[in-house]
Amino acid sequence: MGVVKRIDYDVAVISGQERVGASSMAEQILRNIGPIVLLGPPGAGKGTQSKRITEHYRIPQVSTGDLLREHVKQGTALGIQVREVIARGELVPDHLVCDIVAWRLREPDAQRGFILDGFPRTETQAVWLDSFLKFEFFDNGIWAAWLPIVLRIQVDYNKLLLRITGRRTCPVDGTIYNIYSNPPRVDEICDKDGARLVIRDDDREEVIRERLDTYERQTKPVADYYQRLGRLVVVNGDQPVDDVTACILKEIEDKAFSVNGSK
Ligand code: ADP
Ligand code: ADP
Repeated sequence: MGVVKRIDYDVAVISGQERVGASSMAEQILRNIGPIVLLGPPGAGKGTQSKRITEHYRIPQVSTGDLLREHVKQGTALGIQVREVIARGELVPDHLVCDIVAWRLREPDAQRGFILDGFPRTETQAVWLDSFLKFEFFDNGIWAAWLPIVLRIQVDYNKLLLRITGRRTCPVDGTIYNIYSNPPRVDEICDKDGARLVIRDDDREEVIRERLDTYERQTKPVADYYQRLGRLVVVNGDQPVDDVTACILKEIEDKAFSVNGSK
């Protein structure tokens, strides 16, 4: 792909949110984890698992869906540009998403590693990510290795609809619930902060089908790309949340610490 174009300055402002605590002494002695990529169809559990990995390793979750929704909510120039695309369940153009990711990954809290959730979603994004990681983190001497650990969460297509239609999210802290498999203690209310849970605009049945089709057409090739390079690990997402987390952490432990030590 060509050079990623610069977009509005407001990307920088939003990308600074969701930071993991600044560089404390404790953080200085934590090990480098490196980049982790979570792939999988809508509803596979990427957001749920990312939040757990974030807490475990104290590295940030970088969700392009969350970043884009924040732009829409704040009515930035980018948000206005992408609102309709997201509402239709289609993908936002590659150069816009790559630019948001570049801004976010340059933040100080991402220098030990990060989890990419919902990115890359096209082969163009995957190729861009490889060259970005190599240039920013390896050539610049931050990490001894730069290849992302790529985990695909696999869930049967028929179960995804129920997962997505049952999804409820806390607008304050981002906790993800499911009215069937993981309901809050009080209907529609977040257990942690008492906020009223919301249903995402694009979690309507007609849009969900479009998103699942988009995934089949455009994001499956991303998994094929990593598979061809021998870098894809498949995790069974059709088991209790804790078990999925255990499988993911095991894969990370096996891979990350053998390659991504500090330089
Ligand atoms: P994604 O980010 O891949 O779209 P989410 O993490 O938002 O997926 O999960 C989609 C829905 O499925 C949420 O309602 C979540 O609570 C539920 N969910 C996530 N993981 C599991 C699981 N292992 N078993 C049952 N439900 C799950
Ligand atoms: P889900 O959690 O259901 O997989 P996301 O929250 O990741 O969905 O994404 C919501 C929407 O944001 C997508 O349907 C798409 O319109 C847009 N989007 C998110 N990430 C990307 C990306 N990497 N490339 C293009 N569009 C994206």
